[in-house]
Amino acid sequence: MKKFKLAISPGHTPDKPGASHGNITEYGLSMAVLGDLIFRLGKRGHEAWIIGADSNSYQATKINKLNPDFGFELHFNSFHDATWNGTEVLHSGSKKGRALASALHDSIVDLLGTKGRGTPIAHYQLNKRKPLITIIKNTVCTFVVIEPLFLSNPSDFEKIDITLISVGILRGILNYWKGLE
Ligand SMILES: [Zn+2]
Repeated sequence: MKKFKLAISPGHTPDKPGASHGNITEYGLSMAVLGDLIFRLGKRGHEAWIIGADSNSYQATKINKLNPDFGFELHFNSFHDATWNGTEVLHSGSKKGRALASALHDSIVDLLGTKGRGTPIAHYQLNKRKPLITIIKNTVCTFVVIEPLFLSNPSDFEKIDITLISVGILRGILNYWKGLE
């Protein structure tokens, strides 16, 4: 397999860690998964760079400078209606973006046993009349936002397992990359 260079970004920052469930935050959970994932990618000879903890437009600039083969940002969903659950992966609508999003979505659903919510285009609030979210609009490479599950849903919360989420993302990435060869 040809080696690739990947840009990865945790959702949110240490100061503003995003959604939470008890003491578990989006940022903390993202970093735990990404630490495991970077080890797995590095072991296989791929390059993974963490681009984090800034505004999304500044992050996009840094990612463009790095010029990776592709990239993603890892979030965990949350909603005031606690019944909402499942996995979704957002993309720009490009052919490669769709392919990367589908590969990640399917492997995460397969490993975690979450509900597949699909791979919508990354408009703000998923509203088609709104623009694409900044991190996807401003990145030149194929870039997606992964939302493996809802922190606000008790059954999804029980499914949290750092290794499984990491391996789910790893398999999705490798399947996408194989599909390009
Ligand atoms: Zn988030």
